[in-house]
Amino acid sequence: MTKASEAADAYPGEKRNLNLTSYNTLGVDATASRFIEIKENSELKTLANSGFFSRTKPCILGGGSNILFRGDVRVPVLRISIPGIQTIADTDSNVLVKAGAGVVWHDLVTWCVERDYGGIENLALIPGTCGAAPIQNIGAYGVELDQVFESLELFNLQTERFETFTHEKCMFGYRDSIFKRDLKGRVIVTSITLKLNKPPHDVNTSYYALENYLNQQEITSPGINDLYHAVIAIRKSKLPDPSLIGNAGSFFKNPVISKGQFNKLKENNPGVPSFPAGEGKIKVPAGWLIEQAGWKGKKVGNVGTYDNQALVIVNHGNATGAEIYNHAMNIRESVRDMFGIELTPEVNIVGG
Ligand SMILES: Cc1cc2nc3c(=O)[nH]c(=O)nc-3n(C[C@H](O)[C@H](O)[C@H](O)COP(=O)(O)OP(=O)(O)OC[C@H]3O[C@@H](n4cnc5c(N)ncnc54)[C@H](O)[C@@H]3O)c2cc1C
Repeated sequence: MTKASEAADAYPGEKRNLNLTSYNTLGVDATASRFIEIKENSELKTLANSGFFSRTKPCILGGGSNILFRGDVRVPVLRISIPGIQTIADTDSNVLVKAGAGVVWHDLVTWCVERDYGGIENLALIPGTCGAAPIQNIGAYGVELDQVFESLELFNLQTERFETFTHEKCMFGYRDSIFKRDLKGRVIVTSITLKLNKPPHDVNTSYYALENYLNQQEITSPGINDLYHAVIAIRKSKLPDPSLIGNAGSFFKNPVISKGQFNKLKENNPGVPSFPAGEGKIKVPAGWLIEQAGWKGKKVGNVGTYDNQALVIVNHGNATGAEIYNHAMNIRESVRDMFGIELTPEVNIVGG
């Protein structure tokens, strides 16, 4: 493409050769050849009308907290920054809250807790945007997004139309949805709507770390505000802050294996932790497997695993995306060799 035709193709506000270091929580230094920020739905229509989506398959970016840029990104990056939180329905027991895809997830949690709307307080402090939350059905401390999810609006890149997806259509699973499978990279979520509870709240304190923390604090009948603050305190003590040390949270999903495979694993490793994961299935903590394979706190060049949690891969400074990727693949190989279990990355790998 010549310089003149490139300029003619440029979308208003588009940036060329933008450094993405501050756009991904792993802090990887990668360049986006084209970068466009989307602040309202109409901009997607404008792009579509210019033939943008028929020419290219963009990389959709939210807060960059679940992405590894393995190298430079040669397709256009569309950063979704659509704002706005509003209550769209209100009954005696429930509210429907709609948030733009660009709203910071934790800001939505805070907004809801401040209004005494319950249901997402256990998901406080998860980094990222509301638009990305349904992609992997975010979850923490015994709660997953799909438990409060009502619907979402998206822009379908193939039909170039806006569509509404109900809970059923999203096909949520553990860190999974249709958007990580059949519709991967084919839609842009523009807003989400959640169904939240008014008091009296049915709080979820089933997660052992949460229960322990509340006991220690002598909080016997916690409300949603207590849970919100407890989750923030626990997360701050356990997880590395991406603004201090680059990371993308859990790098791998916890593997779900058959009961037969688990029994064999337990024969050789009597201390293996496990959680039931549906009929005949067992979930094994990936962090435990990685730790047993000797990776906890281990540093190789600029990359390592976090001292307190082997599941988190950290950038000790200036690690390239390729280094981080290779480190992750070495971990995966060790776990496979030692336990015969295949780890799947939770983080989305882009570029390179
Ligand atoms: C310290 C730390 C702790 C974390 N803890 C948790 C946790 O407890 N539970 C948990 O579930 N996750 C956790 N994560 C992972 C991460 O916070 C979530 O996956 C989050 O939802 C990612 O949001 P994001 O906006 O940063 O998405 P990005 O990283 O920007 O994108 C993630 C994926 O979603 C796609 N995407 C983003 N926005 C849109 C959109 N609007 N439409 C369509 N596709 C889109 C991207 O293309 C990409 O495939 C953690 C991450 C970190 C760094």
